[in-house]
Amino acid sequence: MQRIADTLSKNARVMKSRVTRYAVTGVLIATVALLIATALSAFMTNGQISLESLMQAQMTNKTLWVLDTMPFIFAFWGQYVSSAIAFETSAMVIDQTQDLREQAAAMENQAIYEATHDPLTSLPNRILLKDRLDQALRSCAREKKKLALFILDLDHFKEINDTLGHYSGDRLLRRVALRLKGTVRDSDTVARLGGDEFAIIFPALKKNEDVQIMVKKIMQTFKEPFMLDGMNLEMLASIGIAIFPDHGRDVDTLMQRADVAMYIAKQEKNKFAVYSQKFHARNPKRLTLMSELRQAIENDELMLFYQPKIAVQSRNIEGVEALIRWQHKEHGIISPDEFIPLAERTGLIDNLTYWVLKRGMQQLVNWHAIGLKIGIAVNISPSTLLNYDLPDVITGLMARYELDPGFITLEITEGTLIKNPARALEILTRLDEMGIKISIDDFGTGYSSLAYLKKLPASEVKIDKSFVMDMLHDDNDAVIVKTTIELAHNLEMKVTAEGVETHQLALHLKELGCDNLQGYYFSKPCNEKDFMEWVKSQIKTK
Ligand code: C2E
Ligand code: CA
Ligand code: CA
Repeated sequence: MQRIADTLSKNARVMKSRVTRYAVTGVLIATVALLIATALSAFMTNGQISLESLMQAQMTNKTLWVLDTMPFIFAFWGQYVSSAIAFETSAMVIDQTQDLREQAAAMENQAIYEATHDPLTSLPNRILLKDRLDQALRSCAREKKKLALFILDLDHFKEINDTLGHYSGDRLLRRVALRLKGTVRDSDTVARLGGDEFAIIFPALKKNEDVQIMVKKIMQTFKEPFMLDGMNLEMLASIGIAIFPDHGRDVDTLMQRADVAMYIAKQEKNKFAVYSQKFHARNPKRLTLMSELRQAIENDELMLFYQPKIAVQSRNIEGVEALIRWQHKEHGIISPDEFIPLAERTGLIDNLTYWVLKRGMQQLVNWHAIGLKIGIAVNISPSTLLNYDLPDVITGLMARYELDPGFITLEITEGTLIKNPARALEILTRLDEMGIKISIDDFGTGYSSLAYLKKLPASEVKIDKSFVMDMLHDDNDAVIVKTTIELAHNLEMKVTAEGVETHQLALHLKELGCDNLQGYYFSKPCNEKDFMEWVKSQIKTK
């Protein structure tokens, strides 16, 4: 306020210090009027206008005395009016500037809010949670207090989401958020970490046993069923707890350990578990991996291997399958069989798949640039395919890398179709209309019926390696492979056999009319550099 007042008086002073146009005009008019009046008066008394008569009129005519004051009055009036206008204008400009500043500040606040809050529940997101946890840890360290971090995961939320749809799932998450927020004190933080995972910070605990009270309160909130579309839904949550300073002193350690405890709580159907070093003894690698996978995605520890698919007749490289690997600091290269199930369980699989799609397309652009015009196949987990985001993510990436959809194949398993056939079909149809190719992976291991296969917009069937590898020795397997090839061809689909390890097997599959082959006989999955070496060696032997 003081600053505004200062500016105003400064502006007014500036205006006052200059003779304004109003004052000058006023003085001019008054002076002309005075001169005319003096001249008239002189003429009327003396019959002429001379310096003497003018002087006499000025000395004797009292009316002129009044007129004499007019230039001064006008000068003062003009100056006053200008100052007043200056004052008002200046106030107006300051008001508008103030408005603009307030609008800019509000927009900035809005942007900060959006970056730090979950749009669905309006709860703090992971970023803000980490920040608050960091602050709380500092103050607890100073005041020698304890802190508990809860990670809470809803049980069977995926099933509800799949059965009732995303919209109902979202509403349920909002209800859970409301209940949790209502349960805790204002000084505690409830955040949504993503999916059906929430976190709560309880700062300033006196003793570890206090967490029991909080667990009880949270369990209480889940006792009451959730009303959704006229249905009463029983919802339970598993809670993992890590305590500062006992289980960790920094944000990342506490988050990892609460995550591990939550995993144990889920497994043992205990509903809650406080972190303990003993957990690691039970399944050390798996637990460490689980807590490290999130960072592995962020820290670029994942890499793609490529395994070629060979066209039987032409012996050309049809394309490659992208297979993910984790280059771990301690454990070396970890196979996807070890961490894909973890990624599926912890909800990281979507981001992991988007990473594979992006890296794969980048690689494809490089290959196309040197004339290697091949396609890429990416494995898609059931939950990722059932996520409506997938077609948009792919559309965005294809536009970014200027790739033709014909170069992209998605390998899906039968599991996808069993979980939610209607939605799977809807999304697959959309992908097919976009021009993306669909391949049925691990064919034969599930229960897919022929009738169902017919409905799918798939262009390829991949016979699982478990049948292919043994088909020369096992008659049952041989029959399965043979009939699958015939069946797929009847439905106008191509067939790829995976797990081709020998020349003999390759020849036999060629005789059966299999279209493409994939397996160690041609090449193991390898990194980009080794794959290029292999491509060059193929060109030489041709
Ligand atoms: P998959 O899709 O059935 O992939 C084929 C697997 O068979 C690969 O194992 C490959 O290395 C292996 N293989 C290929 N040819 C032969 C052969 O001649 N003999 C033998 N014994 N094995 C062969 P990998 O790379 O360990 O992948 C295992 C599984 O992990 C994949 O099975 C796939 O289900 C999953 N996976 C890999 N990458 C991804 C990914 O990016 N996303 C998702 N969702 N899953 C992935
Ligand atoms: Ca595959
Ligand atoms: Ca397979």
